[in-house]
Amino acid sequence: MPELPEVETVVRGLNAQAKGLTIKTIPHIAEHLMRRDEKLRTLVGETFVNFDRRGKYIIAELSSGRKLLIHLRMSGRILFINRSERRQKHDHFVSTFETGTEKLVFRDTRKFGVLEFLHENQHGGFQKLGIEATAVTANVLTHLLAATSRPIKALLLDQSALAGLGNIYADESLYLSKIHPLKPCNELEPEEIGNLAINIRKVLRAAVKKMGTTFDSYSGINGNPGEYSRYLCVYNREGTPCSRCGKTIVKIRAAGRGTHFCPSCQRLKPARGRKRSR
Ligand SMILES: [Zn+2]
Repeated sequence: MPELPEVETVVRGLNAQAKGLTIKTIPHIAEHLMRRDEKLRTLVGETFVNFDRRGKYIIAELSSGRKLLIHLRMSGRILFINRSERRQKHDHFVSTFETGTEKLVFRDTRKFGVLEFLHENQHGGFQKLGIEATAVTANVLTHLLAATSRPIKALLLDQSALAGLGNIYADESLYLSKIHPLKPCNELEPEEIGNLAINIRKVLRAAVKKMGTTFDSYSGINGNPGEYSRYLCVYNREGTPCSRCGKTIVKIRAAGRGTHFCPSCQRLKPARGRKRSR
């Protein structure tokens, strides 16, 4: 599923290529998108003024003052491709522009993606988004963790706590911070919290630079894959040796998601002989 770095990459691509374009026609909108927001047809004549990101949402500002909300969910992709390219089975929204030779396509094999106008009583968690994960500090994280004994992995995935983190970058941040994904939030030491805040920002920054991670469906708006896959330490690397200690990376289930970590570097209990300070 696309996370903050992938969505940020899409937003930057849209600002570089689709900003300022006026929608001329909408040759196709799938029924499931129309059921969710029948006003989508009124996009004809709108100009894209700017694209922004909040958590994993893309927000398109339109010339009428309205805002279009896009969430890629599991498999959604926004593509800016040549108009002559044939429409594919899972292209659920297609628009052409007054100028240029490209078209905008929302391609989504699993159909969980969202394309709708932003309105006051927005559902789907948009209004409840927590602080941007790229802006997290030790202070913020301390407050978020103190009140709960949930496993840290579950909290990192909770969009109402931190917006933008998902499975890939949560696993990577915990690995870099040497924290077990099942460790209860309120048992993290101040030093661990400080490291985690730094590593979350570091991992996201590095992944944005490499235009995200591609495993299956994700790509930039021109179809180019993200290159961060080759820098991953634990995600999708179960069965391979830890680059820090050589032990085998394992995969467990945590917070309902496949979770990757090093059982030697990321221990649930403190190493023997070391007393907890609190
Ligand atoms: Zn290790």
